[in-house]
Amino acid sequence: MIQPIITARNIVTYFGKNIVHDGINLRINRGEIYGLLGGSGSGKSTLLKEMTLLIKPQSGEIHVLGENLHNISPLASLKLRRKWGVLFQAGALFSSLTVAENIGITLREYSHLPAKLVKDIIHMKINLVGLPEHAAALYPSELSGGMIKRVALARALAMDPELLFLDEPTSGLDPVSAEAFDHLILQLRDMLGLTVVMVTHDLDSIWTIVDRFSVLGEKKVIAEGTLNEVLKNPHPVIKQFFGGTRGRIRRQREEA
Ligand code: ADP
Ligand code: MG
Repeated sequence: MIQPIITARNIVTYFGKNIVHDGINLRINRGEIYGLLGGSGSGKSTLLKEMTLLIKPQSGEIHVLGENLHNISPLASLKLRRKWGVLFQAGALFSSLTVAENIGITLREYSHLPAKLVKDIIHMKINLVGLPEHAAALYPSELSGGMIKRVALARALAMDPELLFLDEPTSGLDPVSAEAFDHLILQLRDMLGLTVVMVTHDLDSIWTIVDRFSVLGEKKVIAEGTLNEVLKNPHPVIKQFFGGTRGRIRRQREEA
């Protein structure tokens, strides 16, 4: 059964005179990998921050896992925050902490688990994201870009969330590392039954792992749906975004 896990209705957001969202509507279903697309400055990161209780829109309603974020109580908000993991754009690791310490931060902050159990969980998460055992003792400066993203992902997964929010997780990675990271997200979704909300401008991610997505533009959601559905939308922003995509997909299908 298709079950919405996040809905946004008529979201309006502005910073001073800068109107970022003027009536955003979307629906994210349980278990899907959902993409948020749009040009730079179209309000993707802002929307992700609104979905994770970091900022409040001026009007409209966002529901996440059955909670209305608009009038959520402090206690409900604390409980809800434990149900999601976040990997933000500037989600840098603490350079003075080891990989294991970085991954353990939220566990230590939110849980009162015994130290031995925290250690076991950290090692499990290191395995889960495909990092080698010895990475636990390394510092961020000793890691490749792809490994850093995996550590940040392991940290986001530390509390066994139902929901994972990713802001441009593959930006800055070379194409091979980006593809490997995408496949990891897909595997984790399948294995853990996660729902994933991912801001991306990477067209490869969109046709390999994203189930449905929305395109933000002109302060609204210009199109929402599967790739095939969105490509049917004649809006110029869609055409510009996916210029040449139709041809490329057709070619890929013919080769397959
Ligand atoms: P995107 O992630 O799609 O590139 P953002 O959500 O980061 O876009 O930003 C959307 C718009 O909101 C931009 O014009 C940006 O300058 C503005 N903005 C975002 N956060 C703030 C803030 N904290 N204060 C003022 N303006 C902001
Ligand atoms: Mg952004």
